[in-house]
Amino acid sequence: MADVHTRKQRSFNMSQIKARNTTLELNFRKSLYSAGLKNYRIKTKIYGKPDVFFPKNKLAVFLDGCFWHKCPRCYIAPASNAGFWKEKIRENIKRDRKISMYLRKNGIKVLRFWGHQIKTNPNKCIAKVMDYLEKNEK
Ligand SMILES: [Zn+2]
Repeated sequence: MADVHTRKQRSFNMSQIKARNTTLELNFRKSLYSAGLKNYRIKTKIYGKPDVFFPKNKLAVFLDGCFWHKCPRCYIAPASNAGFWKEKIRENIKRDRKISMYLRKNGIKVLRFWGHQIKTNPNKCIAKVMDYLEKNEK
């Protein structure tokens, strides 16, 4: 079968596969910092390992890479090793749902942002976080 991907799509997938979440995470944290939000933790032992966690407000934030978590807007299935990727991404989505459900059941609010949202409109993501934190100030 011919490779149905354009070069642009292929390089998008490759960059996503390589970068994983580090760039997203750093950009997001930079935005949090500029907004004056500093009372969060990273690398917590909270179930599901949220990228950012606000312990005081019990808010877990997940930054979902568009490739790894199958963003409806950006996801392009890789042409090579299609079966492997399909299974892998499916497992990721299943885990995402399980984690969100578990945390919510345990009184932790979950916010998930797509990679493209953080890239193109970080302020909107931060506003959403702030909105939540303000409502749940203890
Ligand atoms: Zn996306």
